[in-house]
Amino acid sequence: MSANPNSEGSLSSHLWDTSDLYRNAVMQLQEAATTMKLDPNIAERLKVPKRALIVSVPIRLDDGSIRVFEGYRVQHNMTLGPGKGGIRFHPEVNLSEVAGLAMLMTFKCSLVGLPLGGAKGGIRVDPNKLSRQEAQALTRRYTTEINMIIGPDKDIPAPDVGTDAQHMAWMMDTFSQEKGFAIPGVVTGKPIEIGGSLGRAESTGRGVVYTIQHAAKWMAAHGRPGPKIDATTTVAVHGFGKVGAVAAQEISDLGAKVVAVSDYIGGVYNKAGLNIADVSKYMAKNRTLKGYPEADFISNEDLLALDVDVLIPAAIDGVITGANVSKVKARIIAEGANGPITTDALHDLESRGVFIIPDILCNAGGVVVSYFEWVQGIQNFFWSEREVNAQLAEVMANAFKKVMDIQVSYKCGMKTAALIAGVDRLNRAMLLRGLFP
Ligand code: NAD
Repeated sequence: MSANPNSEGSLSSHLWDTSDLYRNAVMQLQEAATTMKLDPNIAERLKVPKRALIVSVPIRLDDGSIRVFEGYRVQHNMTLGPGKGGIRFHPEVNLSEVAGLAMLMTFKCSLVGLPLGGAKGGIRVDPNKLSRQEAQALTRRYTTEINMIIGPDKDIPAPDVGTDAQHMAWMMDTFSQEKGFAIPGVVTGKPIEIGGSLGRAESTGRGVVYTIQHAAKWMAAHGRPGPKIDATTTVAVHGFGKVGAVAAQEISDLGAKVVAVSDYIGGVYNKAGLNIADVSKYMAKNRTLKGYPEADFISNEDLLALDVDVLIPAAIDGVITGANVSKVKARIIAEGANGPITTDALHDLESRGVFIIPDILCNAGGVVVSYFEWVQGIQNFFWSEREVNAQLAEVMANAFKKVMDIQVSYKCGMKTAALIAGVDRLNRAMLLRGLFP
């Protein structure tokens, strides 16, 4: 493990040893800071979160017993506006991982030009083992435990791994009950009926595919062999959840051949291409891909090693590492998930000329439409899905161009370029606001 580059005694000493994601986020920030010659005082502040809250979340299980889960909400930086970031339910969530994810949210919001800061939350729980009633109790009690630091002007959660629009409805209701009136702006990714935005559910996966189209065009324009996104393009999607399933459907609608998709148990593979709508129907009915009749079952490791044009890791972090990177053959890797490629694997892929679309650019569509949802809620004026998608496409195109321009001018990797794009705006804002007191 590399040495912690942060000052001894800072919050970072607690975070450094516990998650690869936080360590990778700090190391990648350090690389960007060195490349862009960032003021070291700003870099020092960006390596640690502004605030981290750990809560105990006791609930009564269906069998009558009480169980206490551990929950977190971390606000990394709120220079540009209220905190923004998802709530994750996963058995391996810990404070350090949430802090790393909050850091990525800061740079993502800044990169796509939003007036929002970075935050993240989570509960260490296996969501697949909770009944609906237990999930509701957990969500409501967690909301109460963190209610002093969230709110439409403070910090606005959204869905992430293991949570969805229903969890956001429970959070909104709990927060509103405590205040005595409806406060839809406390969360985004809500159901449409209580103030959600059209196009939010599809926004992350849709944005992933927009960036793949931009990458393919850029490669063609710069004489680099790459796919055109047509019937000859092969795609594998790791993680068939809210991001992966939509990305698979959208890219298949463009005519590409999605040959494999997977969930946490494993994947399904069909060399001739999968019918994604049919796979989604099977998944909705069976809650697993296992047994899907029109394909062979493969492991997640095998899926990551498929010889495809485009690989979309859209599940969790740290899936492409120093241990398996040599087997990865994709020409474009679109980071639908946050932090799916570790720093050592990243350097290997970059040296082989793989086009990496970094997470803070690739999956930014979700937070962009979350921002639109927040704005629509404040104005009580709701847009058509066509307007939402048009605005999303424009923001993603501008962000892609910004990152490519930086990549060309600094002659650096894509990951570093995206971070520089995010850090640059934030740096200027932090210097203007100054250090209190
Ligand atoms: P989800 O819970 O809807 O789906 C996650 C998928 O990954 C599921 O299919 C699950 O079975 C699979 N999975 C979980 N653990 C796995 C493992 N160890 N190996 C293989 N597959 C595994 O979550 P999501 O919202 O689609 O989020 C996926 C990723 O995208 C996360 O990294 C999240 O932070 C990121 N992201 C999500 C959004 C959003 O709007 N939901 C926005 C930006 C980034």
